[in-house]
Amino acid sequence: MPAPQTQSATVDQVTGTPISYFECSKCGERLDAKVPQTLCPKDAGSLWVRYDLKQVRARAERHDIASRTSSMWRYRELLPDAEPVTLGEGFTPMLASRKRPNVWIKDEGANPTGSFKARGLCMAVTMAKHYGLKKLGRAQAGGRLV
Ligand SMILES: [Zn+2]
Repeated sequence: MPAPQTQSATVDQVTGTPISYFECSKCGERLDAKVPQTLCPKDAGSLWVRYDLKQVRARAERHDIASRTSSMWRYRELLPDAEPVTLGEGFTPMLASRKRPNVWIKDEGANPTGSFKARGLCMAVTMAKHYGLKKLGRAQAGGRLV
């Protein structure tokens, strides 16, 4: 399915990131990334962000990336161009399995919250601030953060 005519691999005016389009994880529908949305209007499928990787490659030099702080924001060319609200999420270590050769385990417990969820929350709070939102809600097993 071709990308919408209005979404031709340009730098997103809201985020500054070279997003080509959103793609529905259920039906494959391609949606305009200029429109803030999180779910497919046809079937409520989650949306994947599809980047223009040629533009990302042109913006990111390997030595620049290596010199940046050790956090998920090191790879900012693939993240929205927003001021991060962060506790230092990401860049968690890979640990060699003691029992299985050639098996590596990502230690997400090294995140500030002790969970992989820290990455998504960092991005959610960053974008909420970016859009000027004053209240946040988040579904969570056993509780709700407001
Ligand atoms: Zn869909």
